[in-house]
Amino acid sequence: MTIVPSSIGGTAGPEETAGQTEKQSGKTRRSDVLSTKESVSDRKSDLNLRPKTLDEYIGQSRIRSMLEMSIAAASTRKDALDHILFYGPPGLGKTSLAYLIAKEMNAKIHLASGPSLERPRDIIGLLHQLEAGDVLFIDEIHRLSRIAEELLYPAMEDYVIDLTAGKGQATRTMRLPLPRFTLIGATTKVSMLSNALRDRFGFICRLEFYTPEELGKIVRRTAGILAVNMNDQAIAAIAGRARGTPRIVNRLVRLVRDYAQFKGHSLVDEQTAHAALEMYQVDIHGLDPTDRRLLTVLVDTYGGGPVGLETLAATLGEDSETIEDVYEPFLIQCGFIQRTPRGRVATAGAYAHLGRTAPSAQLSLNLNSGTEA
Ligand code: ADP
Repeated sequence: MTIVPSSIGGTAGPEETAGQTEKQSGKTRRSDVLSTKESVSDRKSDLNLRPKTLDEYIGQSRIRSMLEMSIAAASTRKDALDHILFYGPPGLGKTSLAYLIAKEMNAKIHLASGPSLERPRDIIGLLHQLEAGDVLFIDEIHRLSRIAEELLYPAMEDYVIDLTAGKGQATRTMRLPLPRFTLIGATTKVSMLSNALRDRFGFICRLEFYTPEELGKIVRRTAGILAVNMNDQAIAAIAGRARGTPRIVNRLVRLVRDYAQFKGHSLVDEQTAHAALEMYQVDIHGLDPTDRRLLTVLVDTYGGGPVGLETLAATLGEDSETIEDVYEPFLIQCGFIQRTPRGRVATAGAYAHLGRTAPSAQLSLNLNSGTEA
């Protein structure tokens, strides 16, 4: 597999600074440790940690079997694989799958990202470089400009680029053939994709959060690659705090390794893992200080709710979109918050996690609250 980083593409995200959440372009971002965004050190260590074969790719078994079958069939036909869309939260392994597909297909991979393909010449230049069987990976494909998207339609469907020259009556259209290639799109926001684009993918795959067992396997593999001596209890402790996300689990392994090295511990046991994660303020469920503040406000200030999203946001000094997109999904997944028609409600689990006793009214409210605000 050859990797061709597009000069106009690239998936690099902004560098993150250490410490607590920060405001950037008006948006609050989670502290480094539990952020799902790729940091500079993630990117460096990714070179070693990305799975090298589909067999090394842990979890997502349904997607893996589907890919194995389709790759074998396409290789037998000596044809390019159908276009594939991967969607799901950041850090779950979409980019890794794109690399693996290119490798298994023995193909060159070209990397680009939606926001960098703004002008027609960006996407035309990229398509023009493609050779038969190549993989074109577009990260954040939901952020493609309308023009780029329209140029992609015939490229995906008929393997052609439609070029227009001139203006008004003198407009001429030229159709250039393209080799058969595979477009792999990745997005965290599938609902922002137009139907027209979505319909042009042969496979649409949703990546799931990983189970603690799967994350445990990733911890073991990463610890092996980084030559960290870690026992089973430490592996389980790290896996349990990683919010179902391989990118986070790998980051936690690196942090625990640094802590153990600093303390001079040659074996990372449960106690060392707990002490390290405590120091980074990652609690036993993988919550960080902002998650806990949100739960505390809900429980202490609003008696466990129901409370409206806007009110909650104003009390926390956050914008409601950040609460809804960044903080709530994991708290709901953990079963600490419910969305009800009357607002957000803390569950009995949230009370227990904060070490409080849930009032009996809260317990019955949790049972009768229904779902979704
Ligand atoms: P995404 O593109 O969804 O944001 P990535 O593919 O960049 O996620 O994955 C982040 C990191 O997590 C990778 O560099 C890799 O080291 C690790 N990773 C992701 N998925 C897996 C997996 N299934 N098995 C092992 N490691 C994984």
